[in-house]
Amino acid sequence: MTDVEIEKENAAIAAEYRNLLKISYQTLTEDDKKLIRLAFNTAVDAHKEQRRKSGEAYIFHPIAVAKIVAAEIGLDATSIAAALLHDVVEDTDFTLNDMERLFGETVARIVDGLTKISQLQSDADVSLQAENFRKMLLTLHDDVRVIIIKIADRLHNMQTMESMPPHKQVKIASETLYIYAPLAHRMGLYNIKTELEDLSLKYTEPEVFNSILEKTLESKGEQKEYITAFNDSLQSSLKKEHVDFEIKGRPKSIFSIRKKMLKQNVTFEEVYDKFAVRIIYKCDQDQEKFIAWKIYSIVTDHYRPNPVRLRDWISSPKSTGYEALHITVMGPEGKWVEVQIRSERMNEIAEKGYAAHYKYKQGDKNEGGLDEWLVKLQEALENQEVNAVDFIEQFKLNLYAKEIFVFTPKGDLKSLPKGATSLDFAFSIHTQIGFKTRGTKVNGKLVPLSHVLKSGDQVEIITSENTRPSANWLDYVTTSRAKSKIKSSLNDERKLIATEGKEILKRKLKQLKITLNDKSVNELVSFLDLKTSLDLFYRVGLGTVENKKLKDYAAERSNAFISFFKKKIRKQQSQEDINKDEITEKYDLLVFGKEEEKLNYKLTSCCSPIPGDKVFGFVTVSEGIKVHKNNCPNAVSMQANYAYRIIRAKWIDSSQQEYFTDLTISGIDQLGLVNNLTKIISNNMHVNMRKISFETDDGFFTGNITVSVKNKKTIDKLIDNIKKINGIDQVKRS
Ligand code: MN
Repeated sequence: MTDVEIEKENAAIAAEYRNLLKISYQTLTEDDKKLIRLAFNTAVDAHKEQRRKSGEAYIFHPIAVAKIVAAEIGLDATSIAAALLHDVVEDTDFTLNDMERLFGETVARIVDGLTKISQLQSDADVSLQAENFRKMLLTLHDDVRVIIIKIADRLHNMQTMESMPPHKQVKIASETLYIYAPLAHRMGLYNIKTELEDLSLKYTEPEVFNSILEKTLESKGEQKEYITAFNDSLQSSLKKEHVDFEIKGRPKSIFSIRKKMLKQNVTFEEVYDKFAVRIIYKCDQDQEKFIAWKIYSIVTDHYRPNPVRLRDWISSPKSTGYEALHITVMGPEGKWVEVQIRSERMNEIAEKGYAAHYKYKQGDKNEGGLDEWLVKLQEALENQEVNAVDFIEQFKLNLYAKEIFVFTPKGDLKSLPKGATSLDFAFSIHTQIGFKTRGTKVNGKLVPLSHVLKSGDQVEIITSENTRPSANWLDYVTTSRAKSKIKSSLNDERKLIATEGKEILKRKLKQLKITLNDKSVNELVSFLDLKTSLDLFYRVGLGTVENKKLKDYAAERSNAFISFFKKKIRKQQSQEDINKDEITEKYDLLVFGKEEEKLNYKLTSCCSPIPGDKVFGFVTVSEGIKVHKNNCPNAVSMQANYAYRIIRAKWIDSSQQEYFTDLTISGIDQLGLVNNLTKIISNNMHVNMRKISFETDDGFFTGNITVSVKNKKTIDKLIDNIKKINGIDQVKRS
């Protein structure tokens, strides 16, 4: 480069810098400006020898990223400084310590997060990719600004990808579609998400992209006319009501038109709602909702609304913070057109996401939103049991899933992804509530745990201390949060059973004169065609490894003693019979359902359950209840396809059978009495509440409770405990 060229470039860099300060969305203090100046000088110095593939000085890249962060996302000075420095530790001699010394801990931590993300190997292997992605999300924990700056970094890289070799372009574009666009979407960065998607399409399917682009440009004039017609018809009515407004057209993104074409299998011309109309109005914040509906009323005076396409995101904002009123009306020329009604504030939130949200919320303690989302994300991430590919799939599903809104019994609003069930709702309230869910009521009616919720439902969760998650529950939930919680609880139980199983196995092997050690365990795992020692212990714990199998193994081990072993087999078989008897003696009664009723049943031949096995009942059309083992090969398909025909079944010891007792309680009605009473009952081990009813009459309280217990001792203890409750006068068995 000649001196003149260098001078020119320096001038351009300086101009970019001044521009950066000017476009910041937040008001910058003198200290902010000092911090940004120092970051800028440091970055210029650090990158001075570097050039980008296009040939321009490298520093233009961090400045551009900082500009996106400052203007388009609207983050603070700390983020602008971190954006300027985002490649410094990764690419130059500067260290993290330098960052901390010069800029303090926060900036250093963000730069560190960004450095770590770029050091993740972006391997071709999908599972590795997913694992990396998970690691990347883990950094969210430190500071969410890391991820936002990373998104800005990706956006600028996508914008300037021309000079990359084509195979790299496709790879980066695919990764963007897979990871960054959904993330931007979830963070409410709508504009950036759209741009990322369009840019990705440009590189993954250039011909498709160009043809749609051309056609949208061609139809621009037509669109303008349409907006003008729409505007003209509303102008006078809106003015008469003194609404300060602006009507804009919004072309749909190329990516979303493409998506529609594929989904509906139509041509560009046949995609009918290629753009939406946006009415943006100015007003004081306390008038916002009122004016939105006023505009709604004026629009629908002129154009017929489609009643099923009304979305009120003002009364219930999306979890991204998005607010607006959406309606679809039959517009000019008889075309359906979506009209989005937003105040200026709502519009800013829609375009900038959380930054705008927080700007308007200053002083309002009722934040939540982003923080809440981060907590949920964090919980899912900390769950190491979930395989990374599952995780990313679940995560992506939840990102794009539409939301529904349901109410708690107290009338609090909760948002859940569409398709969520009543059990999902329980887990969304609290993990412990989820685990203890015994039943659910929707709009006052008892429903199955798998009941799919609709917007507007009021959901109540009935819990019981005795409830624990079962494998079936995985079919009852759709949210990744509930799934991962259930899975880890099942895994815990599995480990517990396996620990017991190990002891049992040790004993059984000892009888066969074999020591339980790594060698014998490994041999058994392969002999039984299992995967891990945990599988082995678990199965023994469950009782699904037959003694005969162990003996076969012992026999194979000592081939030399074949003749001897034949005798032994006979002897052992009789011993096996004895074992069987033992079990049968203890578990002699099969009961069904929550009430543990005795019903007629048949044991199936497909898995031949024996007393003591974990089993379930399946209600057949013509043959009554058939009992299968939980691990019957047909169990999964029965549970998946006919969950409603499955009835709980369990072997019990008939000498321990529960019996029902009615208690009549009376006393003085006071606050918290019923609550205390139910708490005492559920805290008493081995007591199940079956029925409960209360009545109060002028402060006098009577209650009837039916409980089931195993013996008299338990009921005496319960009565004693109930008597101790403040206000209770009498407890009688009836
Ligand atoms: Mn970068």
